Parts: sequence; structure tokens; C-alpha cells
Amino acid sequence: MTGESPTRDWHEEAARLRPRTQAYIDGRYVDAASGGTFECISPADGRLIADVASCTAPDVDLAVAAARRAFESGAWSRTAPAARKRVLRRFAELILQHRDELALTETLDMGKPIADSLSVDIPAAARCIEWYAEAADKVYDEVAPTGHTTLATITREPVGVVGAIVPWNFPLLMAAWKLGPALATGNSVVLKPSEKSPLTALRVAELALEAGLPPGVLNVVPGFGQTAGEALALHMDVDSLVFTGSTKIGMRLLECSGRSNMKRVWLECGGKSPNIVFADVADVGRAAAASAAGIFFNQGEMCSAASRLVVHESVREEMLEKIIAVGREMAPGDPLDPATRLGALVDKLQLETVTRYIESGRGEGATLALGGRRVRAETGGYFVEPTVFDGVRMDMRIAREEIFGPVLSVISFRDEEEAVRIANDSAYGLVSAVWTRDLSTAHRVAKAIRAGTVYVNCYDADDITVPFGGFKQSGNGRDKSLHAMEKYTELKTTWIDLSN
Ligand code: NAD
Ligand code: MN
Repeated sequence: MTGESPTRDWHEEAARLRPRTQAYIDGRYVDAASGGTFECISPADGRLIADVASCTAPDVDLAVAAARRAFESGAWSRTAPAARKRVLRRFAELILQHRDELALTETLDMGKPIADSLSVDIPAAARCIEWYAEAADKVYDEVAPTGHTTLATITREPVGVVGAIVPWNFPLLMAAWKLGPALATGNSVVLKPSEKSPLTALRVAELALEAGLPPGVLNVVPGFGQTAGEALALHMDVDSLVFTGSTKIGMRLLECSGRSNMKRVWLECGGKSPNIVFADVADVGRAAAASAAGIFFNQGEMCSAASRLVVHESVREEMLEKIIAVGREMAPGDPLDPATRLGALVDKLQLETVTRYIESGRGEGATLALGGRRVRAETGGYFVEPTVFDGVRMDMRIAREEIFGPVLSVISFRDEEEAVRIANDSAYGLVSAVWTRDLSTAHRVAKAIRAGTVYVNCYDADDITVPFGGFKQSGNGRDKSLHAMEKYTELKTTWIDLSN
């Protein structure tokens, strides 16, 4: 890590950290109307970090009203794009200036290694905001080729009040994927972070104000899904709901829209991504390293996790051996130790879910090739070893359901047709990968796979310039890239008669 002092004691800094715990509404920190709070627990040791305001419908009402007032005032929605650019660039800079504090907060709150929060989560969130800031004054509207006596313009307008509900696996980054394009296009936002990781969203809200965002444009309502989340999803004055989270809750949000005001609903949901390795893979070592990183990075708590290794039987053994070797090097450690590569699972519930899946894999007859145990239980934290199941069949739960933990299912195939069939035999369609030396195989299979992203001879390649999102039950719409701006704008056609 650049500029990291090797002697830095993150525990000492953690002891001094005083996170923001109140809701952020109309440019001020406030308690929940009910006075209620929920416990924010460190997954590294099970200890209380802070009590956080537990918002419910009355708080969401206040936040939506503030967002609406700000929107109608035009203080943000009708400013010049170049002015929005300047504010959002400052916001991105402030996030970077607070990188250490935010990274520490993220790691304490959700258990990921501090090295990752510092090098991935916080810089990527800042980069995302910066990229949309820059885009704000570079996207043009259209004039339609209608004819000599008419002029028809096709313009984009902000959709209005956006409700954003985000998960805990990359708390600030997933929020930034929504905030960047939503704010750049002039909307007001009510953000509901996950109850498992509310702290960084609460902190950056005041950084946005400091950067010059008018009060009420960004509001943060921490709380549970069934209370704060559902109040937002059912609200009659929310114009659009953008979501990252599970498919189950995504489906529920569609219902909420239908039961309320037909608000637009954009979903980024789960995955069970196939990582296909053909017999002619150029470099088994590289493929294995990328496959291991693809399932073990972020404790496997990745929507895009390479959770199904679909491997030709001729290279299965060598791949397995090499993935296991990487897995052995990734024993879970203290998330605040800069050397740790695998941290704690987000909470006790997730530990139980992952443990249940490991039991189910065993019970359904898969072969446990690596790991499978909870470790470091004496710390009070929720750690699970990198785990690999070999001999997995597509009718097993560990082949079909998203585990969201460091658990790999290895499924072998004999020919291309079978590989594609296995890959597409899923309710999900988020990402996928193909490892082969043959250009035609790569293109043919990339076209055949029903998924929003296909990696060829790589995994988890990442850039803000490309859209990210799913086919099928992995969701609709796309985060990142200019395409994301479509979710935050309405198209307007204006006809002007030129005949006299
Ligand atoms: P989750 O669906 O349980 O929760 C996501 C958010 O929805 C949280 O803020 C939660 O409080 C809220 N919520 C829960 N119930 C609600 C309800 N009834 N009404 C309104 N809101 C409600 O998901 P999670 O466990 O936080 O995150 C993991 C999931 O997110 C995985 O399925 C993962 O694949 C997915 N994910 C997808 C992407 C992507 O870009 N496609 C990225 C990251 C994570
Ligand atoms: Mn937490």
C-alpha cells in the first residue's frame, strides 16, 4: 500500500473513532422520531461499536419531504451541470481526504480487511463520484430528424426523488454507484444503508454538504429493511427506487411499487456465476489464482463471486490443486491487521447461513476438498475458512443458491455444449467467465451465456466506464458507465411547430 506506515496501529485508531450514528435529514443529524436505535456490532469480535438511529416511516416521511422540497427549490435540480460537477468533484476529493477514517469505519462495521477498504472500497467510491461529476456537463440531449416544419427535441430531466436501498458487502461503494449518477443528473436522494453497515453512509452525508450540496438533496435514513426500507419503497412521493441486494428483496420492492405509485424500480441483485475453464486454458496457474480470488475476495460476499467453477474434466484436478493452494494461504485473520487478506463475515446471521450451506453440501454428497470450518471463534468474531466442494452436481443447493460466503462449488463437464448448459442452468445471470486459448470458443461461449458480463481469460476486471448488472433474476438496468444515467432521468419529447 502506498504511504502506509507499517507500524500503524489500527486498533488504537479504532478505539478513538466516534462514528456518526444519527439519521441525516435536511442537512442535519437527528435522532429517529421514535428515539429508537439498533446495535451496530463489530463482526471481528462481536462487540458493540455504536447504537445507531433506527428510522421508521415517520423519519422516511421527513427525509422524503426534505428531498422533495430541495428538488422543487431548484437549488440543485436546476443548477448548471458544470456547477454540479464542481460540487461533486469536491465531494469525491473529501472522500479521498478521509480515506483512512472511512476505511477504518467500513472495516469495523462489516469485517473486510483494512487493506481492501483502503485500496478498493474508498478510492473506488471516490472515483465513481468523480467520474459522474465529470460526466455531468458532457452528456448532450438530442434533436430528432423530423422534417423541415417541425422541431422535436428529446431531453433528459431528473426523475425527482430517488430512494436508494443498498447492501452491506461494499457499503460505501454500492451507495456511490447510486449517488454518482443520481446527483450528477440533478435528483434528490434518500439513502437507506444496510442495518449491517450504516456508518460510512452517515459520515459521507456531511462531507457532501461540506462540498456544497444543498441541504435536503442527500438524506440518509439508517434502519431495518422491513421498517425504513419498506417505508421508502411504499412511499407515494418517491419517484424512483434504486436497489442493490438480494433477489428476494428485489422482488418485494417490485410489489411495493405496484401497491403504491408505480415508482420506477431498478434492481441489482444476486448471482451464482459460472467460471468456465476449458481444456485448452493457456495458463492453469493464472486461471486458478483468478478463480480463487473470484470466490475468496471479500470473504466471498460478492454479488459477482465466481461461485461455480465449471471445469473441463481434463484440467479439473490441476485447477483444484492450485485453488486449494491459494485457499490455504488465505486463512482468515484480524480485519484490522494490514496483512489480512480474508476478514470476518458480516454478522452472526451470515455465519449461520454460510455454515448451513456447508452442511448442506456435505449432506447432499459433495466432497469437501478444503476448509469448511468456523475459525477464530475465541475472538468472538465470525470467521469461516476458504472452502471448496468438489464433485458438485447441478441439483445440489450449493450449485443453485447464492451462498455469499467463501464457498466454491466445483462442477466438471465434458464438452462445450454441456458447459454452456450448466452455465445457463441458473435463475441468475450476473457475471460469467470463459478461460480458453481458442478465439472462436471464447466468442461462441460469450454469446451463448445469459449474463450481463462475460470475462474472457480474466475475472473481476473492473472499471467505472463499463455497465454492470444482470440478466434474469440478477436484476434490471445497469450501474456504472453512462448507461446508469438512464435510470435517473426521464425522457421528454418536445414538439415545436415551425410552419408559420
Ligand atoms: P438484502 O436484500 O437482504 O438487503 C439489501 C438492502 O435491502 C438492505 O439495506 C436491507 O435493509 C434492505 N431491505 C431488506 N428487506 C427489505 C424490505 N422488505 N423492504 C425494503 N428494503 C429491504 O441483501 P444484503 O444481504 O444486504 O446483500 C447481499 C445481496 O446483495 C446479495 O444477494 C448480493 O448478490 C447482492 N448484491 C448485488 C450487487 C449487484 O451489483 N448486482 C452488488 C452487491 C450485492
Ligand atoms: Mn456492522
